[in-house]
Formats: sequence, structure tokens, C-alpha cells
Amino acid sequence: MPALASLLDELVTANRILAREGVVDAFGHVSVRHPDRTDRYFLSRARAPELIEAGDLMEFTLDGTAIDPAGRAPYAERFIHGAVYAARPDVHSVVHHHSPAVIPFGVTGAPLSPIMHMCAGIGARVPTWDSRTSFGDTNLLVTTEEMGRHLAAALGGRPAILMRGHGAVVAGASIREAVFNAIYLQLNASLQMKAQALGDVTFLSEGEVAAVLKTRGAYTFERAWERWCRRAGRPYDARPMDGPLAGR
Ligand SMILES: [Zn+2]
Repeated sequence: MPALASLLDELVTANRILAREGVVDAFGHVSVRHPDRTDRYFLSRARAPELIEAGDLMEFTLDGTAIDPAGRAPYAERFIHGAVYAARPDVHSVVHHHSPAVIPFGVTGAPLSPIMHMCAGIGARVPTWDSRTSFGDTNLLVTTEEMGRHLAAALGGRPAILMRGHGAVVAGASIREAVFNAIYLQLNASLQMKAQALGDVTFLSEGEVAAVLKTRGAYTFERAWERWCRRAGRPYDARPMDGPLAGR
């Protein structure tokens, strides 16, 4: 399969996996930066992720303009994706979701931080962006470039950010990394709620987070991706398993 077609097939798979794992429901989306044009990205037309086919994928410029809409309606919140790609040359995939597990943290200001090694990819502390602080009373959706840029600035160089009363954004260097971190962000939020019901939580230190990420290579993402493909009923397109943990 040609490289671009393979990448778009992987984007379809990412949609199906995020739906299967409960990170997205009828809403939420995942995009990938164009491999040959850093000023463009691919994102589905407005449709529930578990239904998405290759023909639903649309190409956009970073300001959210569709290259060839062909009658397809885009997501109102596509501005999240373009703004993150514009601000972060290291990011090649973006997930936006409304996972119920993360919502309590965004509305209370309770710190959300990794409590287990698999969740280190969410960063030592996940910040929260509140649309109301700069944009007043809105419907909470990120529907303009200006809002997208404001959100991307709050994300900074981090892998994830919560959105008050709305959801979260997770960024990755690849589709597999972004999906991995989105799934483990959801898991960490769920586990942290349970742990804090029992007592004070000992979070991973910044040094522990750095140590986990230092040993994380393609092997980690591939091992998870293969399983998630099976669960989502999608073919697994294997990639080389490099990194310090390969073979373990
Ligand atoms: Zn949203």
C-alpha cells in the first residue's frame, strides 16, 4: 500500500480503536499531519468515529479550510487540530475527546497526574484550559482559529490538556503514540478517582515519568496497537519494534 494510503488506513483504525476503548463516543476525533506537507492534516468528516471509513477522511490546511470538501461537512472543532500542528512541529497526530473519566478533573481543578508507569505519557501534570477565561460564555466548543490557538498555547510543549466542562486534547509524534496516550489518560483518570477514594495518592515523580519515557520506544506502541486492532476488528499493520524494551 502506498505510504499515504497506509497512513490514512491507520487513521481509520485509530478512530475505530478510540471508539472501541470508550475514549470517544458519537463525538470526538483524531487527526494526522500530512506526511509530505507540514501545513496540512487529515481528519474525518463530521461522523461518529466507530463508523468512519477511508472515504470520510478530508484534507485541511492549518486554518481549518477543507481542500476538497466534496459535499462533506467537517467537524466544527477541527480548529483544535490545526492550531496544535501550527504550534508544535513535533506533533503529528492529535486526539480530541470527551471521555467521562477526565471530566471531573477539569471542573474541579483537582490535579491529574500519572499514578502508574503505563500512564507516564500523559506528562507529570495535565493542565486544564478554561474557555471562559478569555472567551466568556460560549457553548464550550472550539469553533474558531482564535480559540484553537489559545488552547494550543495552554497545551504548550505538553502531551495532554484538559478542557473545563468539555474534554481533553492529546498530542503525539505519531498516530499510535497519540492513541496510546489518549487511552492511558482515560485509564489514569479512572484509576486516580478510585485511589483517591481510598486515601492520599503517591504520584509518579517527574524523574520517574522521565525514566519511563526514556525506555519507551516503538515496541511499547506496537504491542498495544496490535491488541487494540484485534479488539476493534481492524487489520494490524506491523511496524518495526525498536527501543530498549524490544523483545521483552
Ligand atoms: Zn469537543
